[in-house]
Amino acid sequence: MAFEILVVGVGDAFSVRHFGTSFLLRRGDFVCGVDCPDLYRRALHTHRFQHQGDLLDAQHLDALILTHLHGDHVNGLEMVAAYLRFGFRKKLKLYTSKEVIQDLWNRRLSVSLGQMWDGQGYQTLSVEDYFDLEEISWQVPAQIGPFTVTTRRTIHHLPTMALQISDGEHTFGHSCDTAYDPDLIDWLQRCDLFFHEANFGPAHTPLERLQALPLDVRKKMRLVHYSDLLDLSTLQGIQPASEGQRIVVGSDE
Ligand SMILES: [Zn+2]
Repeated sequence: MAFEILVVGVGDAFSVRHFGTSFLLRRGDFVCGVDCPDLYRRALHTHRFQHQGDLLDAQHLDALILTHLHGDHVNGLEMVAAYLRFGFRKKLKLYTSKEVIQDLWNRRLSVSLGQMWDGQGYQTLSVEDYFDLEEISWQVPAQIGPFTVTTRRTIHHLPTMALQISDGEHTFGHSCDTAYDPDLIDWLQRCDLFFHEANFGPAHTPLERLQALPLDVRKKMRLVHYSDLLDLSTLQGIQPASEGQRIVVGSDE
């Protein structure tokens, strides 16, 4: 059985043309998000993905993987968590690294989500009121619904996870944010298909390094996290992922 990638955003942190890079994995009825940038629900509604006869929205997330704590990957999480708690009395099942778990609440979300006025007084809320947190240990396969997810630390400003996601038959990879790293590309190119970032600065991968890879590797690659300045017509042998796109992993569809 194949599984789907629904592309929510392909842009970088500064894009005014795209939503920030994120996507959904879906196998059967199980939906797992990867990252939660700004305007997350607006992006989902813009693309009008269908799910169980409904427009796919945040309440359909069975799980969310958070790769790292840069804003263009996590800025949407505060209001998704609030939307689920106050709109659906539901907690978000969140999978991430030990390093992100240490900082996500204490250094980021507790300021805005940790205190609520209930009409009588201030109530203190904790991370457990919004999330079921699960740590994914580095390089140890974790089971998330029908998916086996293995992480690998990338070369980036913050602890950041690249991903291999398998349903037992087919495997999809994601570089997430990373400096050019041939060992990471070797790890990713074992997958049937993978996303790779391209961007500027020492903590990202220059497009030229990807263009220099063998054609069979480039054919498995879909470009994400790209700049508004990138002229996609200059890509050679690499396809860009596009917003609203549905990719079936393990099928020629
Ligand atoms: Zn980053």
